[in-house]
Amino acid sequence: MSVAVRFAPSPTGLLHVGNVRLALVNWLFARKAGGTFLLRLDDTDEERSKPEYAEGIERDLTWLGLTWDRFARESDRYGRYDEVAAALKASGRLYPCYETPEELNLKRASLVSQGRPPIYDRAALRLSDADRARLESEGRKPHWRFKLEHTPVEWTDLVRGPVHFEGAALSDPVLIREDGRPLYTLTSVVDDADLAITHVIRGEDHVANTAVQIQIFEAVGGAVPVFAHLPLLTDAAGQGLSKRLGSLSVASLREEEGIEPMALASLLAKLGTSDAIEPRLTLDELVAEFDIAKVSRATPKFDPEELLRLNARILHLLPFEQVAGELAALGLADADAVFWEAVRPNLSRVAEARDWWAVTHAPVAPAADDPAFLAEAAALLPEEPWDLSTWGTWTGAVKAKTGRKGKDLFLPLRRALTGRDHGPELKNLLPLIGRTRAQKRLAGETA
Ligand code: GLU
Repeated sequence: MSVAVRFAPSPTGLLHVGNVRLALVNWLFARKAGGTFLLRLDDTDEERSKPEYAEGIERDLTWLGLTWDRFARESDRYGRYDEVAAALKASGRLYPCYETPEELNLKRASLVSQGRPPIYDRAALRLSDADRARLESEGRKPHWRFKLEHTPVEWTDLVRGPVHFEGAALSDPVLIREDGRPLYTLTSVVDDADLAITHVIRGEDHVANTAVQIQIFEAVGGAVPVFAHLPLLTDAAGQGLSKRLGSLSVASLREEEGIEPMALASLLAKLGTSDAIEPRLTLDELVAEFDIAKVSRATPKFDPEELLRLNARILHLLPFEQVAGELAALGLADADAVFWEAVRPNLSRVAEARDWWAVTHAPVAPAADDPAFLAEAAALLPEEPWDLSTWGTWTGAVKAKTGRKGKDLFLPLRRALTGRDHGPELKNLLPLIGRTRAQKRLAGETA
């Protein structure tokens, strides 16, 4: 059977780096195995699901290049969940319960105070038909629990190795709410079974869900997939990432932090694995290096500074074609490969290219603090056309004429030509500035 994985976010918030890492790992797993990647929106929580979050998820995945082969939306499949629920009711695996949330809280608190695990006591299984009729006549509506088998549940997790749960140590999960709406624990299994998912790769916050879901797969007659539970990313201080944590959302990394998609992908593909984090320019390279066996059980930390450093290293390698669209979007539609290669070693974000475009193509107020020297240098400027050899020829002549060398020679020229003390190599900038501007700037004019 060919490999099929899914990424199943709930569209109830922005994707953060932790969520999108799971999307990436699923995608790499699928591509490596020649299988398929399904995007499934777990949107049965109708109060909290929003179309704009669904659009945001699609935009974030598309930006990263994580294209999906199949798409599903749980809210399209209520009929199917009803059908499965009816069958589970008929076979006695789904049973009606009438406790209110307050009653359940009291039961839990009482168990905890006796030092016992807060497992549902199955009181509802002991109700008679008459009890149920009376409760319903009082206006109570049932929610429905899945009756777990009190047997061991075991699987070999691709990250955690052998995992063992005792069915008797788990609470029968609620699968249908009082208003008749199915819950994630059921819908996810029905979808994974119907859509022939072979590998469920998700966060370790779902390990206990997996134990009950394996029994639900068996009850609905679905093939139990292979599971892999990854440790969840934390922030640099070791705190969990929340969905609403704006600064770690994919959208803010893209729109506010100026992060390149391949910087984020290069980091997230390797965080928490035995591979070193290195800049990679294409997802194909990450696919070639991917192996889920490299994922470690230790909690990986996400450090925004590390991402920014990787972003800079990616930019220093990125070919013009891969960045041309971004430059155009910044208003640098005339930028070309020569400009890009001149400035990229000095960038940590693409948007900073705008400053160097202004230095080479717009008036600059020079810092011309050594006018006599600058006048001598200006007089030696070669005729155009200029190329990458012009700087060497020119400064060689200035050195011979003035006897200056090193910093005394180069810094006044840089300050006059660019208005700054630091920047890309002048060998590369000089031809972009051109003779007319260079001459004026050396004379102290804004040009
Ligand atoms: N919607 C669930 C979540 O975002 C999906 C978990 C799963 O992968 O099954 O946590």
